[in-house]
Amino acid sequence: MTRITVAKGDGIGPEIMDATLMIIKAAGAKLEIDEIEVGEKVYLAGNTAGISDEAWETIRRNKIFLKAPITTPQGGGYKSLNVTTRKTLGLFANVRPCKSLHPFISTKHPNMDLVIIRENEEDLYAGIEHQQTDEVVQCLKLISRPGCEKIVTYAFEYARKYGRKKVTCFTKDNIMKQTDGLFHKVFDEIAAKYPEIENEHWIIDIGAAKMADTPEAFDVIVMPNLYGDVLSDVAAQITGSVGLAGSSNIGHDHAMFEAIHGSAPRRAGQNLANPSGLLQGAILMLQHIGQSEIAEKVQNAWLKTMEDGIHTYDIFKEGVSTQKVGTKEFAEAVIANLGQEPKTLKKVELKNSGLINIPRHVRAPRAKKELVGVDVFVHWEGTDPKKIAEELQKMNNDNLKLSMITNRGVKVWPQGFEETFCTDHWRCRYSAVEGATPSKKDILEVLAKAEEVGVDTIKTENLYLFDGVRGYSLGQGQ
Ligand code: NAD
Repeated sequence: MTRITVAKGDGIGPEIMDATLMIIKAAGAKLEIDEIEVGEKVYLAGNTAGISDEAWETIRRNKIFLKAPITTPQGGGYKSLNVTTRKTLGLFANVRPCKSLHPFISTKHPNMDLVIIRENEEDLYAGIEHQQTDEVVQCLKLISRPGCEKIVTYAFEYARKYGRKKVTCFTKDNIMKQTDGLFHKVFDEIAAKYPEIENEHWIIDIGAAKMADTPEAFDVIVMPNLYGDVLSDVAAQITGSVGLAGSSNIGHDHAMFEAIHGSAPRRAGQNLANPSGLLQGAILMLQHIGQSEIAEKVQNAWLKTMEDGIHTYDIFKEGVSTQKVGTKEFAEAVIANLGQEPKTLKKVELKNSGLINIPRHVRAPRAKKELVGVDVFVHWEGTDPKKIAEELQKMNNDNLKLSMITNRGVKVWPQGFEETFCTDHWRCRYSAVEGATPSKKDILEVLAKAEEVGVDTIKTENLYLFDGVRGYSLGQGQ
C-alpha cells in the first residue's frame, strides 16, 4: 500500500482524475489517497501561490503526488504552481515518453518511440530578470554542475533501467560556450561511465529539426530546461496528440505525476475530456512506486481500448474510430479491457519498476580562482563607441585597463564597424595590465572613478580564471 497525494485540479481536472483513479483502482492499484485542494479556488481566495501550508504538509509527507491540471488565473501576480512545486521539492527531472499509436491515432511518424528527459530546475527558468537601461532587459541563464550531473545521470540510469539503447544530448554550445558548454561537457563525462549505451550530441537547432522530421532516429533525449519545455511539446504533438501524453517530475525524495495538457476550461463539466494523458501519468507513478504489474495491466487495457476505436471527441476520426464516448464511458471501456492485450499495437511489458536512485551531489573543493579583470556594464545614449571609450579610459588604474567594449556581445571598440547597431547598453571590459594581479579594490576604484567622470554603471561581472581556465566568454569579433 502506498499513500499518495491527489489534487483534482480545475476545469476538466476532476473528471479526468475520477476516471483515472477508477481505472487504476479497478486494476488493483494499492493506494491510500489524501486529497488536497490546489489551484484556482485557492488562488482566488487570495493565496498567490495557489496552495495552502496544510496542502504542502500533505505533499511533503506522502512524497508521491498525482496532480490534475490547474488553471493559473491571468494577471494579479499569481505564481505557477507547477514551477513552484518542481523547484521547491527539487524535482529535477521531467520525463516525458512520446510514442505513436499508429494506425489508431493518425501521425506522420508511425514508428516514433522516444523519451524526453528535461532538466526541470534551472536555466532561464530561474526567473532572474532585470531591466538594465531604457532599451535593454536581461534574463540570467544559470546552469550548474550539480544540475547537469543530476539530469544527465538520470537520463543514463533511465536508459539502463528501461532497456533504451541510446542517449542523445541537445545543446547550443557553439554559441553558449559556458552554460550549454558545461551541460555538454558533463554529458560527455557521464556518458563515458555507461559504455553499453550509445551516446551522441546534436546542436539543438538541427537536432530539433531532425526530431520533428525523423523522430525514430532518437531514443532518449536529454536537454536543458527551456529547450526541453519546447521540444517535449513538439515530440508529444507529433505522436498524433498532446492529449495522450503524461509526464513525471522526479527528485531525490519526491515525485509528481501529471498529464501534459492544461485544464481545458471550455470542455469542463461536460463528460467530454480524454483522461488518457493523466492515466499515462498515473501509469508512470505506478512504475515509480513499484507497482509495475498494475501499470502493465492498465497500459495494455488502454492500448486495447485505443485499438478498439473507442475514442473521446478529441481523437475521434471517421473510419478509424468505432465509437465516440465521454470521459466516464471511456474509463469503463478501459476497465472492461483489464486483463486483455492489444492485437495490432505492441503489448507492453513493464517489468522494471521502482525508483531510479541518483547519488546526491558532493561539492568538489574550490578551484584556484584568479581575478583577471571585470566587465562593467554602462548605460549610455551615445552612438559612437570612441566617445564613451575616452571617458572609460579615464577610469583605468595601475592594475586594470579598458581592453574592449561590446554592444549586445559584439565588439564595437577598438576597431568596431559603423554598421553595427548599438543600443544604450554597453559592456566595457577592463583587463589586468600585463604583469599585474588586480584585486576587488581595483574594481571599486574603477567604479568610484566612473562616478567622478559621470559614467552611469549598471552592474559588474568579475572575470576569473578557474584553475587557469578562462571562465568567461570573449567578445564576438574579438
Ligand atoms: P489546454 O491544454 O488546457 O487546452 C488546449 C486545447 O486542448 C483545448 O482546445 C482543449 O479543449 C484541448 N484539450 C486539452 N486537454 C484535453 C483533454 N484531456 N481532452 C480533450 N481535449 C483536451 O491548454 P490552454 O487552453 O492553453 O490552458 C488552459 C489552462 O490550463 C490555463 O489556465 C493554463 O494555465 C492551464 N495549464 C495547466 C497545466 C498544468 O496544470 N500542468 C499545463 C498547461 C496549461
